[in-house]
Amino acid sequence: MQYISKEGALTIDARFGAQVKEESGAEIDRCYQCLTCSLGCPSAFAMDYLPHQIVRMVQLGLREQVLTSSAIWVCADCQACATRCPNEVDLVKIMDVLREISLRNEMVKERAVADFHRIFLGNIRQWGRQHELSLILRLKLKTRDLFSDLRPGVKMLMKGKLKLLPARFKAIKSVRDIFQRAER
Ligand code: SF4
Ligand code: SF4
Repeated sequence: MQYISKEGALTIDARFGAQVKEESGAEIDRCYQCLTCSLGCPSAFAMDYLPHQIVRMVQLGLREQVLTSSAIWVCADCQACATRCPNEVDLVKIMDVLREISLRNEMVKERAVADFHRIFLGNIRQWGRQHELSLILRLKLKTRDLFSDLRPGVKMLMKGKLKLLPARFKAIKSVRDIFQRAER
């Protein structure tokens, strides 16, 4: 269905709200737009839509606008919104599900953030814990952004804050089992 707004034609997906509700288990219908989530969100300054607006857009079925937004990737999963919401709307789960749907449908706007998540998890799977230097190098190669933050990176290396080699983790098999179970 199409709706003509001041900004132009908006496509409404009437099933979107129900899909997000089902996949997240969050009570999206309870939101009455009190703005508490947005007022306490530490990432709000960098978002294109504020958290309460994302919930409203999901309710309205604005699938494309939500799934191509920066806000769902800028969210730091800090839980401040879910903790403070007077109606116990779990925005953290909603944001998680929106990122998953956005990835599945290749609608990711913030590609570098999605790449960061993938590389972060790939390192945990490979070594059982994080190895920051390879995380940085892999992300740099993936995003082809080789020279930004070079100076602080070298400083950290010189001060021994970045280990050259990943540490051994004895229980690596258990970590890999967790990944395999999650992928089933
Ligand atoms: S705090 Fe809860 S009820 Fe208030 S706008 Fe945010 S999600 Fe909606
Ligand atoms: S979980 Fe995300 S949306 Fe909620 S307060 Fe934290 S950064 Fe903001």
